[in-house]
Formats: sequence, C-alpha cells, structure tokens
Amino acid sequence: MGVDDDWTWVLERPCDHCGYQADALERDELGGRIRGVGGAWRETLGRGSAVSRLRDGDDRIWTPLQYGCHVSDVVKLFDERTRQMLKKRKPPTFTDWDQEEEAVKSDYAKQDPAKVAYDLASSAGKYADLLDRVNGDEWQNEGIRSDGERFTVESLARYMLHEVEHHLWDARQQIDG
Ligand SMILES: [Zn+2]
Repeated sequence: MGVDDDWTWVLERPCDHCGYQADALERDELGGRIRGVGGAWRETLGRGSAVSRLRDGDDRIWTPLQYGCHVSDVVKLFDERTRQMLKKRKPPTFTDWDQEEEAVKSDYAKQDPAKVAYDLASSAGKYADLLDRVNGDEWQNEGIRSDGERFTVESLARYMLHEVEHHLWDARQQIDG
C-alpha cells in the first residue's frame, strides 16, 4: 500500500483512532499545527523508551523510529509537491511513491533517532513556513495524483497533517503501551 493509495477518507470524516478531524482548523492555522506536531515528534523520538522499544525485535509493525523516518519523508515529499502546485499554472501530475520500498531502500530501522527527530522537525518547519505564505486563491491550486485523484494545496495539507498526527499516535501507543 502506497502513501498515495489510502486515507483520502480522512478529508470526509474524523479518524476513529487518533481523533484527527480534517476540518477542525482554519487553513491559516495549518502551518502552525504542522510545526507543533514536528516538535512533538522530536520530543517523542528523543525519549529513552523510544530507543529501547526499537531493540525488542518485533518487526511485524513499524517501530516509532521507522514511523518517524516515514513521516519525515512524507513531509519532504508533500512539501515538494506543494511547491510544484504553487509554481505551475497547469496542475502537476505526481508520480507514485512506494512507502514500503522506501523503508527498505533508506534502511529506516538503522537510522539514528536523534538525527531523524531533527530532520522531521526541520522538514515540518519548512513545510509550515511554506503554508504560512500561501494566500487567497493559491489554496485552491491543484495537483493530480497518479490515480487521477485531484488535490488542492489546502486538501493536501489537511491530508498530510493527518499522516503526521496519526503516526505520532502510533508511535506513542507503542512507547506508552
Ligand atoms: Zn488517524
């Protein structure tokens, strides 16, 4: 399952797991929220228990570190896509991105949690800065996913924020559970 294939439903209804509600925020608040969640991720990955969990050898699900790597990549990808949508007059079409393949290729499990935490928070900050500068009609600029689904700068940001928040919830469930 690719990051592009699922979770579009979250734009229509709240998430039963992490409680995310796509329409709970004004669009001008999205940047600030994403910046804040980047900081929360940094704090979560920095906890000692996050590291000990990484070593318990359960590879059935992603560890907090792997989720962190994934989220960091997703933020960078969506930042790049948003820049394309803002720059081009004709909506760009995005190529597919396979998250499982990326997890193996980038060796998520072997990354340094402190570095991942820093990268994630700074990518989230960069994307938040970009969103803070979006105004008026630009929120409705479009991009087209490989399956034909159309996104706007605004819906992409609301969708992305769920990825970041949901996986933070996943990671915390493991650490606290
Ligand atoms: Zn969720």
